[in-house]
Amino acid sequence: MARKSKKKKDPFVCPKCGTRVSEPKKTWQLVSPLPDSKGRITVTVMGSFECPNCGYKWRGVVSKIKIGNDEVEVEARGKKKEIKDEVKRKSEVQEAREGEVIELDLDEIEKEFEGEGV
Ligand SMILES: [Zn+2]
Repeated sequence: MARKSKKKKDPFVCPKCGTRVSEPKKTWQLVSPLPDSKGRITVTVMGSFECPNCGYKWRGVVSKIKIGNDEVEVEARGKKKEIKDEVKRKSEVQEAREGEVIELDLDEIEKEFEGEGV
């Protein structure tokens, strides 16, 4: 695939006529079988687009999500965002699930949130 490397590569813009598409017709995820240099798994969200103006169909990368050691990095349209706290909380929830008895006490949860200084 010969592709001209442009400075701005927006998967939402038709490569033929430049019409901006609001959203992909279909999205799916590709999970990289090999972790990256930091041991993270990369999930690529692909999208298939169809131009409402000229009818051209193309595929593009909508976003990339890197998941690894206590952190999730979401890369969408050139912007990077790291989500660390959320993952931490999720793994805490998972640990709690492994226990025999799960008691949910809203007061306790609220206290925990306050303690974290969110
Ligand atoms: Zn077009």
